[in-house]
Formats: sequence, C-alpha cells, structure tokens
Amino acid sequence: MGTPAESGVKAAPLLDILRRRIAAEGPITVTAFMADCLLHPEHGYYRSQSAIGLHGDFITAPEISQMFGELLGLWAADYWQRIGEPEKCYLVELGPGRGTLMRDALRAARALPAFRRALIPVLVEASVRLRDQQQAALTGEGAIWHEQIAAIPKDAPLLLIANEFLDALPVRQFQRGDDHAWHERCVGLDEASGELRFMLDPRALPFDELLPQVLRDSPPGSIVESSPPVRAVAVEISARLKAQGGAAVFIDYGYASAGIGETLQAVYRHTYADPLQTPGLADLTAHVDFGSFALAAKRAGAAVHGPVGQGAFLDQLGIQARAAKLKRDNLAQAGDVDQALRRLTAPEAMGTLFKALALTAPESPQPAGFA
Ligand code: SAH
Repeated sequence: MGTPAESGVKAAPLLDILRRRIAAEGPITVTAFMADCLLHPEHGYYRSQSAIGLHGDFITAPEISQMFGELLGLWAADYWQRIGEPEKCYLVELGPGRGTLMRDALRAARALPAFRRALIPVLVEASVRLRDQQQAALTGEGAIWHEQIAAIPKDAPLLLIANEFLDALPVRQFQRGDDHAWHERCVGLDEASGELRFMLDPRALPFDELLPQVLRDSPPGSIVESSPPVRAVAVEISARLKAQGGAAVFIDYGYASAGIGETLQAVYRHTYADPLQTPGLADLTAHVDFGSFALAAKRAGAAVHGPVGQGAFLDQLGIQARAAKLKRDNLAQAGDVDQALRRLTAPEAMGTLFKALALTAPESPQPAGFA
C-alpha cells in the first residue's frame, strides 16, 4: 500500500505551512496538529475536501443505508412522545456530513405529523463546504445552521443526534519516555530530512495521578490518549439537557474504558495513510473514549444510557423489521438491504466497534435502544 503522496496525489499545501511554522516556533502538540489538519481555515480537511461517500475517503452508516437515519428519526419521535409531546423542539445534528442522516430522519418523522410540525431541524457544522451540501439535501425542511454547539437555541427541548462527530475532535497523546515519566507527544521536524515526525516534549508531566490504576505501570513507549474537546461536548450537552430537557445520542467507534495504545488514524480514499504525509488531505480521527465521555457527563449532572454496540442499538430500534419491509417493497433490492443490514449490525462489521451512548436529564425517561 503506497502512501497517497507516493501514489501521485496532489501535494498537501498544509504540509509546507506546518513545516514552516514548526521550523519557526518549535514542535506542536498532536492536538494542535489534528486541529489544523481538520479545520485549518483554508486547507483543513473538512474545509477543502469532499470527504464522505463512495467517491470520498470514507463511508459512514447513514451513507450505507437509509435505514440508519430513519431509525434515528423514529428514535427522536419516540422520545418526543415519552416526554409528553412538547409543542416545540429542536432536532439537532452535530457534524451532519452530507445531510443524509437528517434527510432520512425527517422523512421517517413525517409518519408522526404532530412531531414533524413540532420540530425545527438544527445542523451544527463547521465546514462551509459541507453546509452547502446539507442545504441542498434539506431544501424546504425549514432547517437552521450553526457553526457551534453554543449557538443551538435554548428555548425548547433538544433531540440530538451525533454520528461520527466525536471521533473528529482532537486528542492529546501522552507517551511514557525512557525516563519512565509521561511526556506530551508532539509533531516536530526531523533534523536530517526536514520531514515531520512524532517526538516527545522533553518536559515530564506529573501525569500518573491522573491515569486509571491499570495504566500506571505501563512500560516506556506506551501511549495514552485523552480528548478535552470530547469531554467538553459531554459537559455542554449535559448542561443543555438539564436546562431544556430532551435526549442526545452519540454513535461512534471507540472503547468503553481507557486503555493503552494510540488510535489516531488517517484515511484517504478508503485506505489508511500516514497522518504526517497527508495533513489536510486525509481524514484524521481517533477512537472515542466512551468511559471518560460518560464520566464527564455524569459529573455535569446528566443521566448516561449505554454505551451499547451499534448492532444491539439498531436491533432494539427495529432494524430487522425495517429491512424486511424494504425487501418486500422492492425485491430487486433485497440483496443490497441484506448487505447493509450486515454491515451496520454484524459484530465483525460495525456492530460492536461502533457504540451508541445517550444522555438525558437525570429525572427524564429512558430513551429507546438502551434496555
Ligand atoms: N455525521 C456524518 C458525518 C461524519 S464526518 C455522517 O455520519 O456521515 C464529521 C462531521 O463533523 C463533518 O460534517 C465535519 O465537518 C463535522 N465537524 C468536524 N469537526 C467539527 C467541529 N469542531 N464543529 C462542528 N462540526 C464539525
């Protein structure tokens, strides 16, 4: 597998910018590197690339099948009923990609006309380019867009969905050095070649106390990750749910409790790439630490449901019945539906690595899918 640079891909303009910046100012943290790669105003991945779908770099659950967005739309409709059918609510999506999930969710929501009348779709999207695509997918739906969670309206309950949003938020990495102390992992320049390379901040961090017991004795070279922005989302959404009511579901790939090992990965045209060679050109993600997400949400006063595997979650929402109906309605498509069902739910596909976790206010009903 050649790196994209070797396989004749256009050069990464961000690579030169980062090289110059590091030469002038010194190494930058992995967090700063990831943030620039994804959201640099001009050359960031989400600002400049058409990432998602068959012709992009990766395919997400809503792009695999309409069933995914439909079931999440029904999940929201069900919760709206559980909280007493408020006259107004916001159906919020964080990081809506091409707008496919929201489009499918709104189509499913029409099965409950009172719900469709009550809801205002809100899309939180940092990329202007993707916002344009979302607007085209959602013409006539009365949706509104914001760049940040803080701008979501405050005057009605939230039904919030975020699929593969948390994995796009930057992580910090810490590595145990040969001195047995923890150091922040950075991106600097190799003195000989002038190329980007990972290195450690020479300053030791008094970090052991912050680590779960099981990680404290890890050998030199061990890497652990931590994502302050992911925990900040947990805190911000928890506060909103407490104040406004409603429920939020986060679906992503990740682990239920913290472990050793780095999960930072770059994907370019459906293939893994070297993150240091493709800044701004490849998608850069890290697995989500659902354990610390849940802890941050609990501390902020929310009730946490799950995480459960995506397969179990979709099964509880009725994906088998939905698939059977789609197959009856269109026999020619039956093979595609079966294949999508398998990809979304089978343990060896997305069924267990991907997980769903929901947040609600503490005294609120339990959302569907987490029994
Ligand atoms: N949910 C979609 C897309 C996942 S890709 C799907 O399942 O297909 C990640 C999405 O999050 C993109 O829409 C990206 O532009 C958006 N995003 C990434 N970082 C963001 C941030 N800090 N604020 C708002 N949106 C962000």
